[in-house]
Amino acid sequence: MIRNKLLRPAAVGAVVLAAVAANVLALQKEYKSGIIWPEPRVVAPGEKPGDPPADAVILFDGKDLSKWNGGEKWKIENGYAIVQKSDITTKDSFGDYQLHVEFATPEKVTGSSQGRGNSGVFLANRYEVQVLDSYDNKTYFDGQCGSLYKQTPPMVNVCRKPGEWQTYDIIFESPRFEDDGKVAKPGIVTVIQNGVVVQNHFELHGSTHYDMPAAYEKHPLRQPIRLQNHGNPVKFRNIWLREMTPIVGKKPG
Ligand code: MG
Repeated sequence: MIRNKLLRPAAVGAVVLAAVAANVLALQKEYKSGIIWPEPRVVAPGEKPGDPPADAVILFDGKDLSKWNGGEKWKIENGYAIVQKSDITTKDSFGDYQLHVEFATPEKVTGSSQGRGNSGVFLANRYEVQVLDSYDNKTYFDGQCGSLYKQTPPMVNVCRKPGEWQTYDIIFESPRFEDDGKVAKPGIVTVIQNGVVVQNHFELHGSTHYDMPAAYEKHPLRQPIRLQNHGNPVKFRNIWLREMTPIVGKKPG
């Protein structure tokens, strides 16, 4: 009984404080930017991480490479494609996008440095995100898995063991060019490998080359995506993309 009596003033105090706080909140005015935003489109996400969302363009679902020029040259088995003979290039072209690719370098390890599990994802057909077996395989750092080839190494090496499936989630903004060919805005790449950011908003220096410095050459915004044949039987599966369209608001008046 005594304890209850002691508590009562404290409880009353709490109620008073809550009332004061509610009044202060009521006096605050909500900030509004004035921009009139369209309602974001509803997109059903994939069932589990890595699954394509409802609006994805499926580039390879494990059955056929009919969306790729040269696709008939690669071997398909057990839901994946194996690199052979030549590069393959999407028949369609894409501008700014989010691209999901799964790959596995050969379980049987042969070769070393650039000769081990080498392939690549060429954004806009000319900017290579390197695919390589970089699990316990030293090479030049700006040529290891997750690098923008000869432009920058990945921030960290998160390669899984040879033969294990790995993921790339790549966000790419195609470069913009002036009429005279000057770069108005460089290409920008973010790469998440196996759930870890390895490239963050990297500004491309131009096309990636083995034997010469990177350089830009004016090209249309929309370009195909190319997967590289480097003579190693790298596997690919579950390839899809979503083109990105910025949401644009209107200022009133
Ligand atoms: Mg390569």
